[in-house]
Amino acid sequence: MFTLAIVGRPNVGKSTLFNRLLESRKAIVDDQSGVTRDRQYGIADWSGKTFNVVDTGGFVDNSDDLFEREIAKQVMIAIEEANALLFMTDAATGITDLDEEMVQLLRRSPKPVFLAVNKVDNHQRQLEATEFYSMGLENTFFISSMSGSGTGELLDAIVALI
Ligand code: GDP
Ligand code: MG
Repeated sequence: MFTLAIVGRPNVGKSTLFNRLLESRKAIVDDQSGVTRDRQYGIADWSGKTFNVVDTGGFVDNSDDLFEREIAKQVMIAIEEANALLFMTDAATGITDLDEEMVQLLRRSPKPVFLAVNKVDNHQRQLEATEFYSMGLENTFFISSMSGSGTGELLDAIVALI
């Protein structure tokens, strides 16, 4: 089945979107060993298309290099196992160094990458969020995982690949 992996630094809203995508079907909590421990798997439906969704993350120590290595590892695994990647960023914080590092890894991916700039909850955020165009990703969407705003367009674009 087509697999979409959600990647991004902590607190950008990945799990909020993941839970929203799985609203219609309950999450299948994967309990495999090793590197998959920090990942959640579920099945989403959109426009009559069914696909797997992977929510990455779960590590909490953001104090040192270990953290960046861990994120890089998660991105590499996602690139391996997914058919498409949803890279999530946060309009409330703007572009961070870690976002820049992640996008560099993602640019090397042969798989399609969708940039979802999250927390675009209002008009002001919408204006600020345009800075993310500088990341140069063709598929850029401005969303609010909390309200669901913009997520329909994003999902339409994703399922168009299936
Ligand atoms: P994750 O670490 O990337 O999985 O992020 P979470 O989904 O756990 O969300 C981190 C925080 O951001 C939580 O407090 C969420 O309620 C909040 N959040 C998620 N999506 C949105 C959004 O669209 N707008 C706003 N304002 N907050 C959000
Ligand atoms: Mg999470």
